[in-house]
Amino acid sequence: MKDWETLEPDVYRLMNKHYTPGRGGRKIRYIVRHHTAGVLTTEQVWNVWQTRQASANYIVEPSGRIGQLVNDWDTSWANANATANAESITIEHSNSAGAAQDWPISDATIEEGAHLAAALCRAYGLGRPEFGKNIKDHKDFWNTSCPYHLARGGKYHQRYMQRAQYWYDRMANPAPTPAPAQPEDTDMGFTDEDRRIQREIWEQLRGPGGEGWPQLGQNADGQNLTLVDGIAALRRDVNTKEK
Ligand SMILES: [Zn+2]
Repeated sequence: MKDWETLEPDVYRLMNKHYTPGRGGRKIRYIVRHHTAGVLTTEQVWNVWQTRQASANYIVEPSGRIGQLVNDWDTSWANANATANAESITIEHSNSAGAAQDWPISDATIEEGAHLAAALCRAYGLGRPEFGKNIKDHKDFWNTSCPYHLARGGKYHQRYMQRAQYWYDRMANPAPTPAPAQPEDTDMGFTDEDRRIQREIWEQLRGPGGEGWPQLGQNADGQNLTLVDGIAALRRDVNTKEK
């Protein structure tokens, strides 16, 4: 990742189809883990999903490089379950070799994937990573073995969860840093004013406390829509009227 705080990925390759704009008024509640059943980079998986009706929010490549394919505020088509798609951020973990080697996953992918899961748990207020609560597997929603060795009971699962908890604790309680000898040079970092503006933009997008905006209306479950959900609904209306 370029930035774990702002969740800036190493690379963006956003899908132009096979995802749903917005989240239909639902809140992000958990992370869903997948493996790709293939050795794939961000660009390669984007190509696969041009013809397959599928997508995920992120992929962690064999090198540990992280690509984003569907923005966090949009719904990926990963879990074969509409509710789980709308309520989750989905992470694909690439394998480092194929079926002949029984679909291994590299140490770098485990480490960066766990770090990403931790950063997402922190950014969306999901709490300390805990399997079954805020970290789930594809197989919890569909008759599949995915994410195979990464799934609960698999050979990578325990390490993944331990590293996710480690990174979450590190981010929640950053190690104290020595005070700078001189006032901080602000042109390389964010000032307090920058951070205030970032918070303001964030709140405008998701509504107060991430609860959506009452004036945008509600989904079938009575949850307020976010700004993105509102625009997505507007677009659906426009499309319907054009037909
Ligand atoms: Zn999967």
